[in-house]
Amino acid sequence: MALQLPGADASAPMSASDGPKADTPSRATCLMADGPALPKGDGYSAQSPTAARADLKPPPTTGATTLQPPGMGNLGTRRTDGTLLPPRKLPMNSRYGTLLLGRQKTLGSKDLQDQVRLPPGADVEEWLAITTIDFFNELNLLIGAIQDLCTESTCPQMCAGPYIWLWADGDKIREPTKMSAPRYFEHLLTWVDAQLSDETFLPVQAGVPFPATFKKGMRVIYKRLFRIYAHVFHSHFKEMMEDEADAHLNHSFKHFVYFVKEFDLMDTEELEPLKDLVALCMEQRGKDLPG
Ligand SMILES: [Zn+2]
Repeated sequence: MALQLPGADASAPMSASDGPKADTPSRATCLMADGPALPKGDGYSAQSPTAARADLKPPPTTGATTLQPPGMGNLGTRRTDGTLLPPRKLPMNSRYGTLLLGRQKTLGSKDLQDQVRLPPGADVEEWLAITTIDFFNELNLLIGAIQDLCTESTCPQMCAGPYIWLWADGDKIREPTKMSAPRYFEHLLTWVDAQLSDETFLPVQAGVPFPATFKKGMRVIYKRLFRIYAHVFHSHFKEMMEDEADAHLNHSFKHFVYFVKEFDLMDTEELEPLKDLVALCMEQRGKDLPG
């Protein structure tokens, strides 16, 4: 049974006049602002993916201790340069060394819910830091893989079903600006990359304290990263299925949701564009096999 997602067949995204305007971040500070209310999408829940539960499973394990993510089906072969931006890495000889090593040993041997939990004795901020870099790399790879599917012409607006997002980062682009999904992704990933490489936000040296705004800043990062999943599920899920990349996408999203819930990184209303899928993920929490 196919994973029927709302808007999965939206080959023609809505025009501005079709539906509610979404997310028009207007405040100037980039880490704390950008919290507009999301619109309630008409007819969204009528198309809820309730028929999908059998399909929301992790993909087959590809190796118990490898750091490689599960395969992205045939999508990866569509492009030669797998990512939009260079992948981000934390040095092993930094404050993160122990966590990175510990995770390397256990990855794939625990179920997803166990994987997101704070390892015993670990610092929560450091755990958020390394996991967020993983999600950044994961989504960077996903966007790289769909660059031929998600273009200026297929996706002239950054949308997820009835939701439309305008980009503003309070820094380079202060006015909420309508743009295509690929342009939005580029801005989004570049912005996240800048946050993660800023050592006053995410210190690498041991003993350097995390800023008081760390959690708040992380919440903005998660709110924005989520939109990538929202767009891909709503606009490209069919193509992902055709390319056999849907299992990886589901697995990746489930990991994201568990982490977000474990550390309270998003408000419920921000999850609205994929609320049925989020509910499905949470229903399956604790029932996953290691993978
Ligand atoms: Zn797209």
